[in-house]
Amino acid sequence: MIAALESQPEIPSKKQEVSSLLTERIHTPQDAARIIRDGGLVAFPTETVFGLGVDATNTDAVKKLFTAKGRPSNNPLIVHINDQQDWTLAASEMTRHADALLTAFAPGPITVVLPKLAKISHLVSAGLNTVGLRIPSHPIAREIFRLAKVPVAAPSANRSGKPSSTTWQSAFEDLNGRVDAVYCEDSTSIGIESTVVHCCGPFPVILRPGAITLEQVQQIVPEAKEMASCVAHDEPSATDAVSSPGILHPHYQPDAEIHLLEKPTSELITPNAGSAYCGLDRFAGIEQLPLSNTFETVEDYAAGFYEFLRQADRNSISRIFVQTAPAHGIGRALLDRQRRAAGG
Ligand code: AMP
Ligand code: MG
Repeated sequence: MIAALESQPEIPSKKQEVSSLLTERIHTPQDAARIIRDGGLVAFPTETVFGLGVDATNTDAVKKLFTAKGRPSNNPLIVHINDQQDWTLAASEMTRHADALLTAFAPGPITVVLPKLAKISHLVSAGLNTVGLRIPSHPIAREIFRLAKVPVAAPSANRSGKPSSTTWQSAFEDLNGRVDAVYCEDSTSIGIESTVVHCCGPFPVILRPGAITLEQVQQIVPEAKEMASCVAHDEPSATDAVSSPGILHPHYQPDAEIHLLEKPTSELITPNAGSAYCGLDRFAGIEQLPLSNTFETVEDYAAGFYEFLRQADRNSISRIFVQTAPAHGIGRALLDRQRRAAGG
């Protein structure tokens, strides 16, 4: 797959509009940091998914990023830094709960929402007075932030609404001609976006599930809750968190239609030329499908899910049967992405 894409990178995908930028392929954190400092857009690897980075204090650059992705302006961006002690680059206050969670899980796949520093562009926070702050563990990402010396706003490196990119080839496929550079190295390990935790209220609220689970968060702050349970119990202290409209936008959707199923069987999945399957279990007749992937563990499934959806689109698959992940551990985050990918 890598070789095939490398040999024809200049051919725009059928969904791509006319390109205006020459997208450079870069291989060093120095190049990435220089482009970001100069107000450019760079796709780079993190341990979760590929990010599309820009100087979070440069409103013109942030505007270009929203255009490049086709991202709705009310969907806030997460700001990335190299080290926990650099939080003053993005937030005006470090709350007790955020400090405890970052100390436990950062660098790693967790984002804490804190009061925003005025210097961070209002476009980054989509007009909110808070900012999502993350310290990835990926060494390339951290070196880019260290050298850039500016807070880096970075959503996932994909066209808005599409599955996130977990390889540089996928980031390139989506963003060629729309961004200044793609860091052509490495792929991601977790494959699912960070856990987003609102940390400005009386207790932490998980806005988006990720690799750091509710149980792990509760080991550090026992009062932590998931957004869904706050909404169900009409918790007024979660109201601010509800005003994170980005969560409601369509996300992770391939061109193919997705059918979720708990258990795959040959009765449910007919060996049609336009059908594909991914999941943990095999079933009689799976070999007759033009595209399928069974993963050994839930972690592997999470790591490979988005790329499978993209592979299905590249193969003009019209219907993907997706076995739902078990709703615990990282499976909870994967299940959330599967439901959204299916339009739920
Ligand atoms: P993405 O860039 O696609 O990984 O999405 C980032 C998500 O983080 C957004 O959709 C928001 O849900 C969440 N987020 C970022 N900043 C904030 C914030 N200030 N308040 C609440 N949620 C946020
Ligand atoms: Mg995204």
